[in-house]
Amino acid sequence: MNLHEYQGKSILSKYGVAIQRGVIVDKLDHAADAAKQLTQETGTSWYVVKAQIHAGGRGKGLVKETGSHGVVLAKGIGEVEEKVKGILGGHLETLQTNGIAKKVNKVLLAEDVYYPGETETSEFYMSVLLDREKGRNVIVYSTEGGMDIEHVAEHTPELIYKEFIDPRVGIQGFQARKIAFNLGLSGEAFKQMTKFVVSLYTAYEGCDASMFEINPVLKTSDNKIIAVDAKVTLDDNALFRHPEYAAMRDLAEEDETEVEAGAAGLNFVKLDGNVGCMVNGAGLAMATMDIIKLSGGNPANFLDVGGTADAERVEKAFSIILKDKNVKAILINIFGGIVRCDRVAQGVVDAYKSFGNFPVPLIVRLQGTNAVEAKKLIDDSGLDVHSVVLLQEAADKVKEVLA
Ligand code: GDP
Ligand code: MN
Repeated sequence: MNLHEYQGKSILSKYGVAIQRGVIVDKLDHAADAAKQLTQETGTSWYVVKAQIHAGGRGKGLVKETGSHGVVLAKGIGEVEEKVKGILGGHLETLQTNGIAKKVNKVLLAEDVYYPGETETSEFYMSVLLDREKGRNVIVYSTEGGMDIEHVAEHTPELIYKEFIDPRVGIQGFQARKIAFNLGLSGEAFKQMTKFVVSLYTAYEGCDASMFEINPVLKTSDNKIIAVDAKVTLDDNALFRHPEYAAMRDLAEEDETEVEAGAAGLNFVKLDGNVGCMVNGAGLAMATMDIIKLSGGNPANFLDVGGTADAERVEKAFSIILKDKNVKAILINIFGGIVRCDRVAQGVVDAYKSFGNFPVPLIVRLQGTNAVEAKKLIDDSGLDVHSVVLLQEAADKVKEVLA
């Protein structure tokens, strides 16, 4: 689950990570009061208005309606309302929004931490994530923060450092000091950075995140180290341990069909291919996607219907798959272990009929308990459904209907 910047920062702050503080604004009328409140809390007289959408690159991105950037400075309380107006309610497109402009429902009004006129600030990059090959969490960091880290990785990879954390002992003091040293810090800033790194890592483990990306981490002119931005992804599989995070889910930012499938208990991930698939079991789903690839198609989705595949569930799955106009064929590949194939076949037949005019070719492979009866049931239904027995046949059929 991805979080908005303000939500990520609230978690960081709970773990003692110093952050750029802010107040959330979702109505223009509240902007001036929010600014007063922030000034009371922080003493700031300049503000930064930051669009809250699930995408980075907001600073360089543009709001379609107004031409404002997604992150702008307000030099004084008098400018706040006008700057908020340029962003709130508009649609923001950035390099990370895949060519669409995203509606901005909230802005974060934050304290200006670069202090007017100061030049003694430095922007660093820091992220925490899992290195699957090494089986360890890694802190990735760089002196080249603020700007596009992909650019740094491509052109000056030597400026990106990695510190692997041994899960048995957690982050060690010497590692935090090494990071502060590699970032070129000394004195008070060095001390603050070691504290920052340790609390950041503790937060990562504590909230069961799968990714933290803080860009920039700022060294202020008075040697504070603070998180100015926060991109946080939580591990969905650990969310049950943190019921308090459930409310942070922003369904408006998620794929509509995935939300609908989730509500129906279907495990669905949208992909951008042309062959829809309906499978039971994640392993078989992966194998089925491979088959589709091998037959020259591309999977349009991952869909695990789970243990029961009755008519109602199959019908729901069909309607979800068929929402995607790129789908040119559907492959059902179900193994009847606990579920009986003839029951699934009946479900498929009933669901198919309920559509009246089924829009794309359907290929069905049912194997396992009562597979023979299932195939007969489909073949005898008189419907235009291709029933196959072998995986190879399924692949060949997919190729044939796509041709
Ligand atoms: P992103 O563009 O989505 O990554 O959003 P960020 O939160 O990283 O903000 C973009 C840029 O705005 C940062 O890299 C900073 O250079 C700048 N910025 C953020 N906060 C402040 C601030 O308090 N004062 C000033 N002057 N600039 C800021
Ligand atoms: Mn950023």
